Amino acid sequence: MGEVIVIEMCMDRRLVEIGKVLSDVEGTANEKLRRLDTLVQKNTGTYKKLSDLIRTINPDDTVYVIANAGANVNGHAKTLEHIGEIDRFVILTHTDTKDVAKGCGAMGALSQRIENKEHDGVFEHLGGESYLEGYTDRKGIEELNPIIQKERAKKYVSEPEIIPVDTSHLILPKDTGVHVAVVADPSKGMGYATNLRETPAFETYAIVGRREDVGVDVEIAKSLGMHEIINRQRRTIH
Ligand SMILES: [Zn+2]
Repeated sequence: MGEVIVIEMCMDRRLVEIGKVLSDVEGTANEKLRRLDTLVQKNTGTYKKLSDLIRTINPDDTVYVIANAGANVNGHAKTLEHIGEIDRFVILTHTDTKDVAKGCGAMGALSQRIENKEHDGVFEHLGGESYLEGYTDRKGIEELNPIIQKERAKKYVSEPEIIPVDTSHLILPKDTGVHVAVVADPSKGMGYATNLRETPAFETYAIVGRREDVGVDVEIAKSLGMHEIINRQRRTIH
């Protein structure tokens, strides 16, 4: 019996290819590392943390990759309840150390609301209250996010693992600017990868969670300028 591993990540398009690699249960660690080589600059902390994670996932483990705005653990409450017993909880937040404006869109949306004192549905869904005390600015909120998500994940495991992905270390093709969001139910093993197999790399946001959980994440994706929100059957749903 292997372990049940939950990998909670932001829906951001730049993390989706990494999510596909992590959720591929058929690939060997070496195959996954080779694919990682094409996504992340080697000799960076981001590469090291992701490759360490890949090396510690065993073939008999059950991996669930789930995704929403900001890698928001509380926003996946029903999804996590449905998964049940969890042995390892890994959280992938992200930041861009070269250009803060290219960082996490969800944290940008929350930062705006904190500064405007706007406590709306998005603020509530992202659990804005927990960011108020340590809040400094748009850049600071991305450093705060992994700390807050780790605290939230302690409800499920005693030692949640955090990988803050520096998106400035990713190897990205030029952005076409046409972005879609795919909304899918979580399923174990190949779920994340299968749901997103046909989607254009680096142009697709992935919202993966039970329907009861992800309504506000879809709203956030729309506010980030998605051209289309589709389900895994590729039907437009919003
Ligand atoms: Zn994000």
